[in-house]
Order: sequence, then structure tokens, then C-alpha cells
Amino acid sequence: MQFYILMLLVLIGLPLLAVNAERSSDPKVIILLGPPASGKGTQAKKLAKELNIPHISTGDILRENVAKDTNLGHRAKNYMDRGQLVPDELVLDMLFARVAQPDAENGYVLDGFPRTIPQAEALDDRLGNKVQIQVLNLKVKDETLIKRTAGRLSCPKCGMIHNQFFSPPRNDNKCDNCSCELTQRPDDKVEVVKERLKAYHAQTAPLITFYKNKGLETDIDGEQSPDQVFSDLKKALR
Ligand code: AMP
Repeated sequence: MQFYILMLLVLIGLPLLAVNAERSSDPKVIILLGPPASGKGTQAKKLAKELNIPHISTGDILRENVAKDTNLGHRAKNYMDRGQLVPDELVLDMLFARVAQPDAENGYVLDGFPRTIPQAEALDDRLGNKVQIQVLNLKVKDETLIKRTAGRLSCPKCGMIHNQFFSPPRNDNKCDNCSCELTQRPDDKVEVVKERLKAYHAQTAPLITFYKNKGLETDIDGEQSPDQVFSDLKKALR
């Protein structure tokens, strides 16, 4: 009798294992949601390293285009300087060109994308259902975000973030990682940050419900120390 029960379990279990094996080999797309200065950039880099997939930040790609004065950079700069979102059509082409690169074949960590419901819908259409999507949402209060951005210093070369109040550089205004001179992002000025927060609440925050309704979203307390946030993110990974 026990033998037949065992055989039955094996027969039921094998096809389930096969389905799971197929799923776990699908590319993994992690979407890191959160307001400006919630720690998305720092955590996205660490997650990408942990999972051995690329970190794709639309903000970084746009800033690179602005620095190189490309046609896209030229068109995006005005919006970025004012703390507004760059129009979807510009961002979508840029993002889809990046995720089509060979290094993104097994998945990637998205930081700063999607930022609007139409961007999320376009991403869904593009990915279809052969990709495992997971959305991790960093929750941080507006007061904390304003304090963080006021002291934020970014490295223009390697992108490492320091904060003159919470994590000052070891050497006067020099990046701890590559010794480059640190700068304040023009859009980290208080008045621009307020605009970015307005854009976040109006256009990006609705994505939390969008992904919650699909059962893909997990909230993470982003007010904690960076190490604790990273540990919670890792625990939340499927
Ligand atoms: P971030 O570095 O992600 O904070 O992005 C900096 C700025 O780039 C934002 O304030 C927007 O102006 C622009 N940006 C970045 N990603 C997007 C996006 N997905 N959609 C629209 N604008 C974006």
C-alpha cells in the first residue's frame, strides 16, 4: 500500500517539478519601485550583483545622454532639470534598446522604470508571460526623502552615492570608491526635489496598486539602514 502511495506521489510530483524547472529558467526581471532618494539606485546595484544580472537605471542612461549631448539627452534635459518625467515615448525606445542587449538575456534589475502606468503596460506587452517579474517597493516618508536629497553627493564616474550627513566620504568630497570629485545632482536641489516628489505621487505611486493587483508586489521598509533594507530585499526575492 505504502509503495502505491509513494508511486502516486512521484507520478504527481514529476510533472510539477518539470513545470517549476521551466519557470525557474525563465528570465527574471526585478522592478525596484520607490520615490526619489529611497535608495533604489544603491539597492538595485547590490541586487544585480547578487543575482548576476545587469542593473538598468533609466535615470543613469538619460544622464549619460545629457552628458554626451545626444539628441535624446538634449530633448530629455529640460524635463529632468525641472524635476518632471521625460515623456514616455522617449524613455520606452531607450529602455527597450537597452534590454535587447545580450547581457540582459537572463534578466535584469530595473531602477527608475516603469514610472507611469503606460510604461508598465508597454513593459508587460514587451515581456509577455515568459518572464518572471517581481516588484519590490521601497517605502520611505517624504520628510526623510527631503533630508536625504539635501545632503546627497553622487560620483559622476562610478555612480556611488554618499550623503554629507549620513554617510560622508572618507576624504573631503572625494568618492570612496574611485576618488573622483563628488557633485550634487542638479535635480537634488530642494525645489526640484519637491517637483520630483509631486511627479512621483501623481504618476508613479499608482504603479504600487497596479502591481499589487497582479500579486507581484512586496513592500519593503526603506527607512531602515541600507544593510537592513538589502537583507529584507533578499528575503523577499522569490
Ligand atoms: P532617477 O535617477 O531615476 O531619479 O531619474 C532622474 C530623472 O530622469 C527623473 O527625475 C526623470 O526626469 C528622468 N527619468 C528617469 N527615469 C524615467 C522614466 N522611467 N520615465 C520618465 N522619466 C524618467
